[in-house]
Amino acid sequence: MKNPETKRDLSCEKGEGDAMELLQHLLESAFSREASDIHLDGWEDRLRVRFRIHGILIEQPPLSRRNGDLLLRRIKVFGGMDPRRFGCIQDGSASIKYAGIVRDIRFAITVGVGHRECAAIRLFQSGLQTLEDLDLSAETRGVVEAWIQNGIGLFLIGGPTGCGKTSTLYSILHRLAQGPYSIVTLENPVERRLEGIRQIDVGGPGRPGFSEGLRSLMRQDPDVLMIGEIRDAEAARTAIDAALSGHRVLATIHAPHALSVEERLRGSFGIDAQSLRAALEISMSQRLVPLLCRTCRRALRMRPVGYPGDMPFFESPGCAECGYTGRMGRKLLVEIREKENGLSLRAQAHEMLKEGRIDYRDAV
Ligand SMILES: [Zn+2]
Repeated sequence: MKNPETKRDLSCEKGEGDAMELLQHLLESAFSREASDIHLDGWEDRLRVRFRIHGILIEQPPLSRRNGDLLLRRIKVFGGMDPRRFGCIQDGSASIKYAGIVRDIRFAITVGVGHRECAAIRLFQSGLQTLEDLDLSAETRGVVEAWIQNGIGLFLIGGPTGCGKTSTLYSILHRLAQGPYSIVTLENPVERRLEGIRQIDVGGPGRPGFSEGLRSLMRQDPDVLMIGEIRDAEAARTAIDAALSGHRVLATIHAPHALSVEERLRGSFGIDAQSLRAALEISMSQRLVPLLCRTCRRALRMRPVGYPGDMPFFESPGCAECGYTGRMGRKLLVEIREKENGLSLRAQAHEMLKEGRIDYRDAV
């Protein structure tokens, strides 16, 4: 195990050797079961342990109070927090190598009932995705690369919750960070730590608010400014103004289509059409579409309405291979609109439907 940010020495203090072993065992066990989070809740006599696996919190054997305290203390050291501070909110991060892959971990210490400490641990199953990992179409990739090389203005990524907006955002940042740019982010919270980028965590107790973070950020003279997610009018105005004053701005926004990105900015956040036209350079919208399991895939007899008569349809009823879900893997679909051109999400889904790669119900 190592902490890439601080490279601190994790050799165990006397008497706490077991705590490191406890932590390692806990993390490895969670990673092996594909958990996304670990919840540790300090109770009067024990530490409750739960894993979130495929969205559901699953109870694990609890730890004794003594072992629980040792574990929480070790988490603070490992995550780069202050182990002497007790009963206050702290955030930290680290990474471990498990099954040959370096995985990032984010820790949040909070205080629960009876001043007992709790910890929420977010586990990232994969390392940071690169632009290549996203498997974008050649056209989309070209547009993104061109903006990274010498783009201007606002690059906005929209899509529903859980469609991988943040992964796309970080893969673009990761590429930008290799260039000669000063990059600063305003995030709530910081999802992943990136080398060579100044990341400001805004919101949450004990941290600067959005406007305060922004003032500090502008003093740092950034070339590229990243706003994790535009959630309100203030963030929207900031993104537009920064783009209009010659900065490159990257941000995400909750919106179902590339077009609705603009509608959201105008309708929900009151951005006027003229500023929007001048600032918004690229709007991207994405979805993760489940792919049909090829083992149990078969032709569909029924013809869904609204499609041409000669088009074949497929369905996958489910088999042991796909865990009886009928789906196997997901494909990222991206719709990208430059100021002029556009490659429609619907057209891409239609192509995949014709190739028999996705279910027609997932294509709309
Ligand atoms: Zn199957």
